[in-house]
Amino acid sequence: MMSQFAGGVLVEITHVLVLWAMAGVLSAAAQSRPGSTSNSGSTQHYVLTCGHVIDGKSLQASNGMMAIEVEGEKIKDIHPLKERESWPPQVQVLDLKNRTCLPGLIDTHTHVLLQGDITAADYDEQLLKQSAEYRTILATVNVRRALEYGFTSIRDVETEGAGYADVDVKKAINNGVIPGPRMQVATRAMDVTGAYPLLGYPPNVEVPHGVQVVDGAEGGRKAVREQISHGADWIKVYSDRGYRVGDDGVLDDIPTFTLEELKAIVDEAHRERHKVASHAMGLHGVHNSLEAGVDSIEHGDYIADEDLKTMAAHGTYYVPTIFVGAYVAEGRAAEGNPVWVKMLDIHEETFHRALKAGVKIVFGTDAGGFAWTENPAKEFGYMVKWGMTPAQAIRSATSLAAELLGWSDQVGTIEPGKFADIVAVTGDPLADVSVLERVDFVMKGGGVVRK
Ligand SMILES: [Zn+2]
Repeated sequence: MMSQFAGGVLVEITHVLVLWAMAGVLSAAAQSRPGSTSNSGSTQHYVLTCGHVIDGKSLQASNGMMAIEVEGEKIKDIHPLKERESWPPQVQVLDLKNRTCLPGLIDTHTHVLLQGDITAADYDEQLLKQSAEYRTILATVNVRRALEYGFTSIRDVETEGAGYADVDVKKAINNGVIPGPRMQVATRAMDVTGAYPLLGYPPNVEVPHGVQVVDGAEGGRKAVREQISHGADWIKVYSDRGYRVGDDGVLDDIPTFTLEELKAIVDEAHRERHKVASHAMGLHGVHNSLEAGVDSIEHGDYIADEDLKTMAAHGTYYVPTIFVGAYVAEGRAAEGNPVWVKMLDIHEETFHRALKAGVKIVFGTDAGGFAWTENPAKEFGYMVKWGMTPAQAIRSATSLAAELLGWSDQVGTIEPGKFADIVAVTGDPLADVSVLERVDFVMKGGGVVRK
């Protein structure tokens, strides 16, 4: 009895120590710093000599050639390249004089655990026939692809039934086990009973769900606590479903959560210093999300003028994910859902109004919703086609995207003190934004990923 009691005290003390240690870890995690994988050994020094630099801040390119000095993980200096400028022998010069250098690109809407789901059958197949472990192996390939395309940071907005696998992918990248972008992750996401695939199976057949099924305000708070405790940086909610186009051209939807539920989820997330991304494509989903105070609207195919005003006033981000809509429209129409084609026109009209209203439009693609063999940088072309200047589109994928992530002091521009996340392309992206689909130099945190 006595020894058991002593053992109990010991366990309790150890437990307290563990809790203390964990409190430190968790508070650091809550701030979700960009992962820094410092190489052991001596600090690497690079100088990148660039034909032009688009620094992500100003909407113009540099006039002449620039030198970007990189020491270790960070940018040390940037200045106009002097004639016959020379550097000490330990400095490695990377000649990019025939290229334009830009900050590493940021995709704020990805699904690294997904391999493209044009039809419902594609999606069901992945959840029913692939283990989370196998999907995680595929995800390690996807993050390497993302980095090689030039995306040095991503916000991954849910694993689609693969649990907390995104937390481990992020961990493996930050520990230098696998190559990949800096990540913020949303883990499982949330939707209400009966609203999210897999659906349509007989009541007696247990099937997996692509989200955590959550009902009621208290259920929402509990799910937020659970997901954050397991490593979620963001909370992702699905705010609507069941789309149809009304005679007035407005995209009607069925709201999933009640306003009370949404408010509880957002309040709980914000209380714990985390942000909320809301999948909202139609009138009510967007409106309820804004009423609840979410931080970003994902997709937003239709947004009422009043709601655009609210977004501009509150600084709510709009992540339109255009390319995926075009990509899935044909397949879903062929499957008997022609609404997806009409939605593309509605989306374009909304995008125009959002631009005019001064809403913060941020680059996000839904990569994973389409196959990772497609370069997500195709999104740039759509943004420009729908009315942005190339410079605005680039800003949306660099400094503005960094702001959405809360990493403005770390990434998104080429400035001294920032992580050396730099890409380069041949040609002038301010004249032809599609050159960003052919990034052929990638540096992340001062390490050359692609040359
Ligand atoms: Zn998505």
